[in-house]
Amino acid sequence: MQDSNTIGGKDVAVHLHSYTNLAALPSTPPLVIVKGDGIHVVDDEGKRYVEGMSGLWCASLGFSNKRLADAGTQALNTLPYYHTFNQRTNPAVVELAERLLKLAPVPMSRVFFANSGSEANDSAVKMVWYYHNAIGKPEKKKIIARKRAYHGVTVAAASLGGLDANHRDFDLPLARFLHVDTPHHYYGAKPGETEDAFSTRLAEGLEQTILAEGPETVAAFIAEPVMGAGGVLVPPAGYFEKVQAVLAKYDILFIADEVICGFGRTGNMFGSTTFGMRPDILTCAKALSSGYVPISAVMVNAKVYDAIAANSGKIGTFGHGYTYSGHPVASAVALETLKVYEDEDILGNVAKVAPVFQAAARAFANRPMVGEVRGVGLIGAIELVADKAAHKPFAPEQKVGYRLAALALEEGVIVRAMGDAIGLCPPLIISAEQVTDMFARLARAFDKLEAEML
Ligand code: PLP
Repeated sequence: MQDSNTIGGKDVAVHLHSYTNLAALPSTPPLVIVKGDGIHVVDDEGKRYVEGMSGLWCASLGFSNKRLADAGTQALNTLPYYHTFNQRTNPAVVELAERLLKLAPVPMSRVFFANSGSEANDSAVKMVWYYHNAIGKPEKKKIIARKRAYHGVTVAAASLGGLDANHRDFDLPLARFLHVDTPHHYYGAKPGETEDAFSTRLAEGLEQTILAEGPETVAAFIAEPVMGAGGVLVPPAGYFEKVQAVLAKYDILFIADEVICGFGRTGNMFGSTTFGMRPDILTCAKALSSGYVPISAVMVNAKVYDAIAANSGKIGTFGHGYTYSGHPVASAVALETLKVYEDEDILGNVAKVAPVFQAAARAFANRPMVGEVRGVGLIGAIELVADKAAHKPFAPEQKVGYRLAALALEEGVIVRAMGDAIGLCPPLIISAEQVTDMFARLARAFDKLEAEML
């Protein structure tokens, strides 16, 4: 039980935690993080950790960027709040939208703003429905996502997701949300099947689903470039080319969820560029503000925007938007974030450090419990398995991934256990030396785990 005089003890008594085993919380003290600097965060006992996950895949500029703090402060002192309903706007949101449209991986027409990745994806779903009503195809409403996808937790976003914990006992997914197979070659491919052949089979599976449902009922397909929370799953060769050919054949909109991959994570500004994706709608969040303030965006192309705009003319309004859509403080911080990416050549740092990161991660493939190491740019995962030759996972109740993440924490590095995949997604400002140090810490955690288990 917690000492009720500590922050952790008080927390347990009052705070309903996100993504936590609430029943076990009283006996598992929360980690209290009190400050951050660079790629590090510091707990209430003064212990420093390398934040190998950028918090929740978002703090791309680390935890002490002064320019972002100053931009936020200045915005708070100038216009702390205003809205964007009923023909209102503010300078920061206009400049931010302009910059986003310039950075977009494919031509986009307009940007809508929200506060979180979930809200961005919820908004994208609603826009897809509104669009199909606008163009006189009211029956075209089903949305196809992938098993193990993560798109957030609001009702529609969680329905898009393909992880059991987001559905179970929440009475989700809603009707009209479908899930096709996960593009994970390691577990999904047949013996000897090449990545390309696997991608062909997945695209055929998608087409079969569309035909079985009726193409006239299928509105959109959504995909993360690299599936993040599902385990950092990098698409197999040819996957998006083959999938997009199917979508084009049946006139199905393509939504790219760039909430994790956006803004340099995979080596390009957007994961869509890395993987040849040509979305009609693109959602982003997280690194849009380096996680410093809540903000997300939905970019839509002219085809989608023009139809939505015309329909709003018929109804009298586009009846969607949040109190904080285009919030001036969030917009100012996001705008400054995009300027820092450019001024400090953050993509240049990713290009320099990613090979060191990927090589250091892949060195773990020789370890007896590692089945696969995967990744691109500055995101990666190490998959722990019971039997390397047979690609056999550990029993979930062994919680091997969680054990490794706990040992890593002891070594002063924060990683994420997604089942038995250990995820790494450090701030994009990390140096090559810091990458080496991060993996050295992880190696010590592995040594301990192997000593316990082998
Ligand atoms: N989409 C992806 C790919 C994500 O990884 C996440 C969050 O991790 C979301 C959407 C949801 O974002 P939020 O937690 O800001 O609602």
